[in-house]
Amino acid sequence: MGGMFERDTDIYHNRDALREDYQPSRLVGRDKELERYKTALQPVINGEQPNNIFLYGKTGVGKTAGTRFLLDHLIDDAAQYDDIELTVKLLNCDGLSSSYQIATRLVNKFRDESNQISTTGYPRPTVYDMLWEELDSCGGTLLIVLDEVDHIQDDSILYQLPRARANENLSQAKIGIIGISNDFSFRDDLSPKVKSSLCEEELQFPAYDAQELIEILQQRADSAFRDNVLDTGVIELCAAYGAKDAGDARQSLDLLMKAGDLARDRDTETITEDLVRDAREELERGRIREGITGLTQHGHLVLYALITLEMQNGTPIRSRDIRPRYTNFAEQIGVDPLVPRRMRDHLGELSMLGIISAVERNEGRRGGTYREYSIDMDINMIVNALDETVTEVGIHESIVDLVDEDRTLSDYS
Ligand code: ADP
Ligand code: MG
Repeated sequence: MGGMFERDTDIYHNRDALREDYQPSRLVGRDKELERYKTALQPVINGEQPNNIFLYGKTGVGKTAGTRFLLDHLIDDAAQYDDIELTVKLLNCDGLSSSYQIATRLVNKFRDESNQISTTGYPRPTVYDMLWEELDSCGGTLLIVLDEVDHIQDDSILYQLPRARANENLSQAKIGIIGISNDFSFRDDLSPKVKSSLCEEELQFPAYDAQELIEILQQRADSAFRDNVLDTGVIELCAAYGAKDAGDARQSLDLLMKAGDLARDRDTETITEDLVRDAREELERGRIREGITGLTQHGHLVLYALITLEMQNGTPIRSRDIRPRYTNFAEQIGVDPLVPRRMRDHLGELSMLGIISAVERNEGRRGGTYREYSIDMDINMIVNALDETVTEVGIHESIVDLVDEDRTLSDYS
């Protein structure tokens, strides 16, 4: 031996079992929802025209996993009937924004490798014609799953697909659409004609509670970890955090995996509750950093201004009172400050990301309302993520204690 790489598998038996794309053979805690979903799919087995189904629920509540699970069974069971030719295609719409893009991707899903069409350059009617041709020549019963359908900006395809038969674009194929969305307002914003065709059957998956998350985590941990690696209480702690955050199974699984990775990195034999807390902090830090990195320069300046005011006990604070500090910072680096309204947009974005909080207040007898802002996350983490901006603008005196000592202090307050 003595190679450069050595296996370190003391902690994990099968780490992949904690990944999002791992398909568990059994879903726990979703019996009622899956029963309704199954009923909505029943026409397929009966050889009837399938229902269009709209499934919604927050992220990580098992929409994709539940759909895959049922469709796998449906495909198996449909194979028992000679008169059903079932074809299922799944398309995740993340990264696709137009009906045009969806249509080209779908055409390619029905074509083989050597015969793919370009995803740009055709007139839309041409692409739709190609799609009808592919669908009809496939024939039989077709289920098309549009996962994360809320990314689509225009609803043309959501109208055209469910109505393809009624509009005589298809004569052979019986088609059903399953739309999956993380965002319920997406359904409300659909035009009435799309809503009535796409949402024939509506299903909702609620968030998981701690007990359900425990079952989900336990099931995955059994395949993922070696025996006796998990301390008692670890699963419960991950589930409790998950339930508190959003009832999101993905987030809880990520946390458990992060804890496992830390155990491996630190060469410990077991995963302890303390390790879970460290893992959570690290994930949180990553999330904040990612959120902050995605902001524009003005977003960074607004946030930096608010941080310094928070450190000086000046929060909660109104936008107009943040403004002088923000303007000062912008001028410091030779950037034109935004008008108040645009600056407020940035405050809105920061509060949407959960980095700051905004509280609505009443103006008293005049009846208007205004908002007051404060920092809603660990300041150290934010300052850390704002590193570049702090360096560029200079270290404000209020945060001197938070940054490394070897840096120079800016000369204003
Ligand atoms: P969504 O599509 O609603 O965002 P997913 O279906 O991707 O969520 O689920 C997120 C993760 O949690 C996946 O790894 C999935 O396997 C797992 N998961 C969700 N619900 C269950 C469940 N009821 N039983 C087992 N695993 C689940
Ligand atoms: Mg999903």
